[in-house]
Amino acid sequence: MTKAWKKNLESIPSLLKENEYRHGVSAVSASSIGTQYFCEMKLDQSYIHGEIETEEKSEGDVLHEELLAMEATTQKTLLEDIETRRLVVASFPLAAEAEGLVLVGVPDAVIFQKGRPTHVVELKTIRRDASILYDGQRAQTTIYGLLLDQVGFDCRDLKLVVVKLRREAPMSEQQKSQFLDALTSALISDKNLNTLASKADGHLVPHSFPYRRDEAIRILSVTRGYWLNQRTAQPTSNPNKCRACEFRKICPSSLARE
Ligand code: SF4
Repeated sequence: MTKAWKKNLESIPSLLKENEYRHGVSAVSASSIGTQYFCEMKLDQSYIHGEIETEEKSEGDVLHEELLAMEATTQKTLLEDIETRRLVVASFPLAAEAEGLVLVGVPDAVIFQKGRPTHVVELKTIRRDASILYDGQRAQTTIYGLLLDQVGFDCRDLKLVVVKLRREAPMSEQQKSQFLDALTSALISDKNLNTLASKADGHLVPHSFPYRRDEAIRILSVTRGYWLNQRTAQPTSNPNKCRACEFRKICPSSLARE
């Protein structure tokens, strides 16, 4: 008998067809929900004016690609691997409905052991303090957990891991190419995870917490009104966020003074 998660992953295109949320989107992404926690107005501005490329974003994207490089495969092969192999690490699109919203997301990596997701990994390359985990980063990763849950995977032992890595971290090309393998080995043995973090001397901090469905539903109860056009976009009240925001010169709610 075909497993429910297989059927659900294969039928993602039909799930995305009939919805229209704010700004005409057919599904709400986990990363957008994360941005809502930083500043909902910023998300709104990015839909109105388009994304503004910054040097910081481009730098982060390049490093991301280098650290999380994976072999391409087909969906059919991936689903068979998840079902039959002892260990699979993959990044692939997820979509599912929850609390009246169709959600989508592509986690940086999901570790499957014997057919069950055990870790969702979200990598954040940053310039600042790696020891701080922001609410938006926690929310984004929690929604990835909910997506796996709604798709039908057994998520009872699922851990969510936001890995924060300072861009200044000295890494050779070899260390970069082995990063994902080293991280996977460390994650599947908590002891080694502490060793990996302590060797990095504050440049790499993994923030690990268990997936909780009730927390994911709470996040949606806070954020869904925006997508359903039930309220206006809420701006941040923190001027420091505005000072660092690429929309500060055009945003009507900016608290940054030039
Ligand atoms: S300028 Fe401030 S209020 Fe406006 S989008 Fe940016 S962070 Fe939000």
